[in-house]
Amino acid sequence: MDRYDLLVIGAGPGGYVAAIRAAQLGMRVACVERWIGKDGKPALGGTCLNVGCIPSKALLESSEQYHRARHGLGAHGITVGEVSIDPAAMVARKDRIVAQFTGGIKGLFTKNGIAWLQGTARLLGDGQVQVTATDGAVQTVAAQHILIATGSRPTPLSVAPVDGEHIVDSAGALDFTAVPARLGIIGAGVIGLELGSVWSRLGSQVTLLEALPEFLPAADRAIAAIARKEFTAQGLDIRLGAKVTGAQVAAGQVAVDFEDAAGAQQAQFDRLIVAVGRQPVTDDLGLDAAGVSRDERGFIPVDGRFQTSAAGVYAIGDVVRGPMLAHRASEDGIAVAEGIAGQHCHVDYGTIPWIIYTWPEIAWVGRTEQALKAEGVPYVTGVFPFQANGRARAMEAAQAACPCRNRPRAGRTHHRPTRLGADCRGGGGDGVLRQCRGHRAHRACPPDPVGSAA
Ligand SMILES: Cc1cc2nc3c(=O)[nH]c(=O)nc-3n(C[C@H](O)[C@H](O)[C@H](O)COP(=O)(O)OP(=O)(O)OC[C@H]3O[C@@H](n4cnc5c(N)ncnc54)[C@H](O)[C@@H]3O)c2cc1C
Repeated sequence: MDRYDLLVIGAGPGGYVAAIRAAQLGMRVACVERWIGKDGKPALGGTCLNVGCIPSKALLESSEQYHRARHGLGAHGITVGEVSIDPAAMVARKDRIVAQFTGGIKGLFTKNGIAWLQGTARLLGDGQVQVTATDGAVQTVAAQHILIATGSRPTPLSVAPVDGEHIVDSAGALDFTAVPARLGIIGAGVIGLELGSVWSRLGSQVTLLEALPEFLPAADRAIAAIARKEFTAQGLDIRLGAKVTGAQVAAGQVAVDFEDAAGAQQAQFDRLIVAVGRQPVTDDLGLDAAGVSRDERGFIPVDGRFQTSAAGVYAIGDVVRGPMLAHRASEDGIAVAEGIAGQHCHVDYGTIPWIIYTWPEIAWVGRTEQALKAEGVPYVTGVFPFQANGRARAMEAAQAACPCRNRPRAGRTHHRPTRLGADCRGGGGDGVLRQCRGHRAHRACPPDPVGSAA
């Protein structure tokens, strides 16, 4: 039986980063991954690289280029002729970018001597894991430390089951090869807004049905209100308090029943995306056999060193409660590997930023004004208007703003203030947020994906 210092289950941004860091620290590492890519071949990179951050940003960029060519160049004195799109070519470009990234992780595994065990892992207890390959071959491996980084999957909605054609989840929405004339999206969260922006820029009439009465409840109320106004001005029809009760496909269309303040209603769409959140992948993992407990929603509880209820078994990323973000998973991955190696092990979740890569970008970090008020934390607010920023003006983004919430200073004004939270609306939000949080973070965690992460 093969023996490793660390066996990682899942090669998303949590698992592959942990595996590489552990190998750099001198451990003998293996990583089990079962993902099969669009080309039918095994692939590393998890949700983020295959059907998440990377492909969605590729399509956001393509759709923004198209939108600018049609609507945004006149102000620069540039006139273009007729502009047309080929959605299939956009999707093919996205697939090439995904393949480059997933291939890159494979190269990093080879370079760092990490064994990729292709197949599905199941804990057996006593430091042993069974790996079943796609051809049915079974092997058992042993490890001193086991790391669960199995991530998350789209939460299904029983009243709108995905059929992969007319009703799709977030992964299916990255592969439309024609622009749907009327696109419905259940869920106006980060994923719904990004996908809605892509297809709206390409010409779809987009309606977002959101069951919650508030728009972007995790964000500061002021920035959420401005963002809603701007998305609405762009043509996104955002219906809050709209609870979907059914969806039927007939004659190539989807009829969606929902209830809102106006009562029971029905809307017709050509395609429907279900984007109501994500749930942890913890079923069929053999957690009970290994003594690893789960909470009522399937997440794995861990302590400050990512240790689960079973000695020597750790968990990170989307499978643990917290922000379901790639850079958070990677921060967890570095910290857990360093902790196993006996080093300092800490992630400051107060410095994990959120970015919605729409236009304008909506970004925030730390606590909102509402949270500070509810907690009775004293704060002062400073707002930097981007009209005063030359780059923002050049980018036609001068309407943007960046409010920061700081701890009040008594006297010692030569010290930088302690930031409690900040928001940014406009392009380049990452750079501003980095300034806001950098000085209080043990390691400043860049959002994924941004250029400054390089
Ligand atoms: C459309 C979309 C856009 C997104 N955009 C962003 C963004 O811009 N920025 C951002 O920060 N986040 C974004 N996210 C979220 C981000 O993708 C996740 O937070 C991140 O991938 C979580 O990383 P992870 O390593 O915890 O899990 P995952 O990336 O989900 O990886 C888990 C891996 O474990 C494997 N696995 C599971 N069970 C087993 C098993 N039993 N045996 C073997 N392998 C197993 C899976 O195949 C998978 O490859 C987006 C998500 C979506 C869906």
